[in-house]
Amino acid sequence: MLPYSTLQQAEATVGRELTFAEKLWFNYSANIPDYIINVHGFIFLLLVYSLIPLPYVLAELSKSKEMNKYKIQPKVKRPFSDIFSCYKNVMQIFLLGGPMLIITYSNMKLIGIRTNLPLPSKWEMFWQILVYFVVEDYINYWIHRWLHTKWGYEKIHHVHHEYTAPIAYAAPYAHWAENLILGTPTFLGPVFIPGHIVTFMLWLALRQIQSLESHSGYDFSWNPIKYIPFYGGAEFHDYHHYVGCHSQSNFAPVFTYCDYLYGTNKGYLYHKSLLHKRDDWKPHQEDGD
Ligand SMILES: [Zn+2]
Ligand SMILES: [Zn+2]
Repeated sequence: MLPYSTLQQAEATVGRELTFAEKLWFNYSANIPDYIINVHGFIFLLLVYSLIPLPYVLAELSKSKEMNKYKIQPKVKRPFSDIFSCYKNVMQIFLLGGPMLIITYSNMKLIGIRTNLPLPSKWEMFWQILVYFVVEDYINYWIHRWLHTKWGYEKIHHVHHEYTAPIAYAAPYAHWAENLILGTPTFLGPVFIPGHIVTFMLWLALRQIQSLESHSGYDFSWNPIKYIPFYGGAEFHDYHHYVGCHSQSNFAPVFTYCDYLYGTNKGYLYHKSLLHKRDDWKPHQEDGD
């Protein structure tokens, strides 16, 4: 809840006229407790998870050969029942995690994530979210490598690898311990550099969208996300799932530089160099039979 009851008081405190976005934020948040903002954020993330994969679902269910050109493993097509079952499983886990909101709320207070005015500038949000991405990517690279040890894989990580040809909804499909372990570094960036709750929610949404895209099973050549420097993407992560248990390639969740630096992209590069000769894993293969 904001410590001002009128727009005039808010502008007097900020020391200038509020921007359009700040007025919207004032109208939304002035009279609701912070934990309700948190609940709304949770619903927003559920909507992101539910809606973003829909174009990929339509592509998967379509019989279009044109669309199949973009399928990374075109021989594997999933029926609606499989896709819905995956969505249902993940949503059950999300909804069971609802009561965790109270804990998240106290943690956010502890970290110093603020809800008041002024809103952060675009550049402040950009740099903070970039740091959050880099911190999380680096730490989860190493955790993911540990999850591919014999113990880590057999006890925890094998669940996520049930999908050797992933679909977008399978991005968070994993053992509860994996979601907990890999989810923790998501909050480390905000712990080191706490910002506004708008930045925090945008970070969680963008990270989720990125994860859904990299599990989508489709590599659209015109996707603007592909032009982000050092971005891994769907083809990069799909290969990791394709190899499965014995994968020693492509551990980083977002960028490619960790795998390059630590030499864990060699298998992937080798397979890419052989793609034109192979039939069992060939991106953009036109014949999906
Ligand atoms: Zn893995
Ligand atoms: Zn994955």
